[in-house]
Amino acid sequence: MLQARGIQKSYGNLQILKGVDLDVKRGEIITIIGASGAGKSTLLHIIGTLDRPDFGTIRLNNVDVNTLSSRKLSAFRNEQIGFIFQFHHLLPEFTALENICIPAFIAGRGKKDAENKAFELLELLGLSDRANHKPNELSGGEQQRVAVARAMVNDPAIILADEPSGNLDSNNAENLHRLFVDLRDSLNQTFVIVTHNENLANLADRKVLMKDGQIINY
Ligand code: ADP
Ligand code: ADP
Repeated sequence: MLQARGIQKSYGNLQILKGVDLDVKRGEIITIIGASGAGKSTLLHIIGTLDRPDFGTIRLNNVDVNTLSSRKLSAFRNEQIGFIFQFHHLLPEFTALENICIPAFIAGRGKKDAENKAFELLELLGLSDRANHKPNELSGGEQQRVAVARAMVNDPAIILADEPSGNLDSNNAENLHRLFVDLRDSLNQTFVIVTHNENLANLADRKVLMKDGQIINY
């Protein structure tokens, strides 16, 4: 599903990524662990096509993302990659349902189609009765599950998550971790997750350790 090859990235004189290779198969959960400053977020941004590497290639779902124009790349990112962050980044003036629909609207899907998919996801994530709530009317765990639904509305090839449970209490964190495993088991959803949470890291099919801009175990 994902092949990253020889990824290098520098900021000024500082080389942050020193030639990273990473392969992720469909239906795998990969977690990336390592000390702060090791380059985990930078790698995730590059895999997510939010940032370009200085050297190296990213193939996602058989597309070499470097060959896409910036307009095509934006559409590709919106449709093929789901993002989950430490803070939910839901739009406060929109309901849960509307937030989930946004990536579908950006992809040009009609209202009915987008809403049907959003309702399906709300039900799958146990949030049917929260569809018309705004983010500040939801608990932290619910907000993060809405963010998961938003990440999934376009059936992305891969979901990238940066410290997804970093702002949750241990109970909500555990629920979120179980949800990732359920989505892998039921939908064959693929995940790459940067985390400091040991429980989440240990749920992975493969745990990748980054140190000083390199993957040192794989
Ligand atoms: P991690 O996620 O493992 O904590 P990061 O990828 O966030 O590591 O950062 C690695 C290093 O790269 C840090 O020293 C950080 O300050 C630096 N860095 C990240 N992004 C930028 C940027 N856009 N400009 C300059 N330095 C950056
Ligand atoms: P995280 O805690 O998830 O690693 P950071 O706070 O390191 O996130 O980075 C947040 C954003 O700021 C990222 O997009 C990263 O690339 C950017 N960034 C990090 N360090 C620097 C820096 N020294 N200069 C400019 N941008 C940076």
